[in-house]
Amino acid sequence: MLEPTLMSTLDTSPQATALSTVYGPVTSWRVGASLGIDLLYQTSICSFNCIYCQLGDIQQKTIQRAIYVPTDKVEWDLKNSAWEQADIITFSGNGEPTLALNLGEVIQLVKQYTQKPVMVLTNGTTLQDPAVRQDLRHADIVAVKLDAADNASLQQMNRPVAGVTLDGIVEGAIALRQTFTHKLVLQCMFMPANLQQAQGIADLANRIQPDELQLNTPKRPYPKEWHRESRGNHGDLPYPHVALKYLNEAEALSIENTIRQHTHVPVVSVYKPQL
Ligand code: SF4
Repeated sequence: MLEPTLMSTLDTSPQATALSTVYGPVTSWRVGASLGIDLLYQTSICSFNCIYCQLGDIQQKTIQRAIYVPTDKVEWDLKNSAWEQADIITFSGNGEPTLALNLGEVIQLVKQYTQKPVMVLTNGTTLQDPAVRQDLRHADIVAVKLDAADNASLQQMNRPVAGVTLDGIVEGAIALRQTFTHKLVLQCMFMPANLQQAQGIADLANRIQPDELQLNTPKRPYPKEWHRESRGNHGDLPYPHVALKYLNEAEALSIENTIRQHTHVPVVSVYKPQL
C-alpha cells in the first residue's frame, strides 16, 4: 500500500506523468491495464530506429548499456504512481529497456513492491549478452520483437545500429529460451513493407520456440519529432505526425494463416486476440 502522504500527493495528470519514469496505466490489447516503466527517459534511446516507432526518429542510436535513470528515482516515481490500478507492469518507455544497466535491479524492486507481474518488451539486439539474459530472469513475460526474416528486411523495417544482424538476434532469443522458464513471446509488426516475411518469420519461430507469437500492425501515427509523452500514447497525438500504412483485416488474416501453416506456435492477432 502507498503511504498516506504519498496517496495525498498523487498526481496522474499527463503533465505530471510526463516528468515521471512511470506512466499510465494504458490499455493494451495484449495484457490489459499496463503501467509503464521508462528506464531511458532522458531522450529516445534505442539500438533500432523502426520505421513505425511511436517515438519518431530515435534521438540516441546506440547498443551500449548504461544507467540512464537512477534506481532511486524509479522507486520514488513508482510509489507516487497509479500502480495499484495496473494489471501488469511493463518495461518499455523511450526506447530499448535492456540498454539500462539497472534493468535487473529495477525488475526485482518492482516485483517486490507491487507483487504484480512484470513484462519486458525488447528488440532482441542485446540478448546475446549473458548479463542481459540474467537481468531478465525475474520477468514474468519477455516479448521479443521480430519483424524480419532476413537482413535486408531488418534494415528496411528496423534500421539497426551497425553490427546488429538477424542471426545475432535469433541466436540471442534461442539462448534466452534455453534458460528463461517464464512466458517468452515473439511480437511481429507487419506492414506492407514486410508482408513477404511471414513464412520466414514462422520458420524462425520454430527455431526460437516461444510460447506465443503476436501479430500486430502499426495503427499509431509516426511523430515528426520526439516527445517523451509518445511512450504508451494510445490516443490522438497533439503534435505533428504522419499516418502509417498498416494492414487491413484481410491482409492480417492472410499473414496469420501463412504463419499458422508453418508453425505450431500459438498465434494471436491484434484483429482477433483469442487463441
Ligand atoms: S525497437 Fe521499439 S523503441 Fe526502438 S525504434 Fe523500434 S519501436 Fe522504437
